[in-house]
Amino acid sequence: MSEMIYFDHAATTPVHPRVVEVMTPYLTQVFGNPSSVHGFGRKARQALEQARDAIARYLDADPQSLIFTSGGTEADNMAVIGGALAHQEKGRHVITTQIEHHAVLHACEYLQNLGFEITYLPVDDTGSVRMSDLINAVRDDTVLVSIMYGNNEVGTIQPIEEIGRFLQERSIVFHTDAVQAFGVLPLSMRELPVDMLSVSAHKINGPKGVGALYLRKNTAFSPLLHGGSQERKRRAGTENLAGIVGFAEAVRIASEERVERVAKYKEIKETMLTIWREAGIRYQVNGHPEHVMPHILNVSFLGIQTETMLMNMDLASIAASSGSACTSGSLELSHVLKAMNLGDERAHSAIRFSFGITNSVEEAARAAGKVAQIVKRLQKE
Ligand SMILES: *Cc1c(COP(=O)(O)O)cnc(C)c1O
Repeated sequence: MSEMIYFDHAATTPVHPRVVEVMTPYLTQVFGNPSSVHGFGRKARQALEQARDAIARYLDADPQSLIFTSGGTEADNMAVIGGALAHQEKGRHVITTQIEHHAVLHACEYLQNLGFEITYLPVDDTGSVRMSDLINAVRDDTVLVSIMYGNNEVGTIQPIEEIGRFLQERSIVFHTDAVQAFGVLPLSMRELPVDMLSVSAHKINGPKGVGALYLRKNTAFSPLLHGGSQERKRRAGTENLAGIVGFAEAVRIASEERVERVAKYKEIKETMLTIWREAGIRYQVNGHPEHVMPHILNVSFLGIQTETMLMNMDLASIAASSGSACTSGSLELSHVLKAMNLGDERAHSAIRFSFGITNSVEEAARAAGKVAQIVKRLQKE
């Protein structure tokens, strides 16, 4: 059979060869503990701070405001739980949305068990939060708002600047999960009115198990991990140095190639949609038509159950997803599609294609042709 085609980069990505190359010495030769005072430690410390500087440059941020974590999930938990606990004297109300990643939603549920009140903002049928809903939800005791940048299932980008400016005027701490946006969209922490921002390495061709939380200077925060004084006492534990060095390299490469990557993803999307349009199959694109992540394409092939379609695509060597890696395997409808109120048929037939650096336009055209054949056959049945 032909080669496998991977369209699930929103779930995870392969590690870039240059990333593997720069990481290797930090597993073997430069193995020191960055907290040690001897030469081994000093070398490790230097690499750690260089990596921090490189990632801070991409984010146009002060390097000291970056805290390395074990990934996007930990960064989200730190922001939501650490941010809320630090402000609980002022109030115990938190606002988020119905379409967040589970790392935010389940952290909010945890806060609820601690006595916090959570408001889950609805979204419209494009997956966008309405400003009016946020304005109505804000109370005197609201201490934290967490709204994602780009959604991982349908790709919709939220009006983060507008939301941030509104919250800044009210001195409410604002966190955004930018795991999908990072490396794909330009992000300037000098310009973006956001207090906390989560990122992850393995979504941008870095290693798994490493990420970071941007924490704006003077934002009160309660650490989740207690122990050593690493990361300026905001996250205890010996640093994952090889992972962090690899993360920084992945960010450097993403930064160099960002514009070309985005152009390619847009061409891939257009190519696939054109092939499907011309094939005369029935489909609907989910997510916002313009404010959408360029590497995510969520499509409903009407009349075909998501699981049936995924299995048939897998047989044709095409790897895509139902939307979220966490709910796949279960027949449960995605909370994101549910919140978008698309109707049963559309929600139960949604497929997420997510693109990455190893995909080509030619490969996407081939895959789209195969998908069209599968859809034609199944829509006839
Ligand atoms: C993948 C993802 C996460 C979790 O990041 P991990 O590094 O896998 O823990 C959080 N939020 C979004 C939007 C994601 O896509």
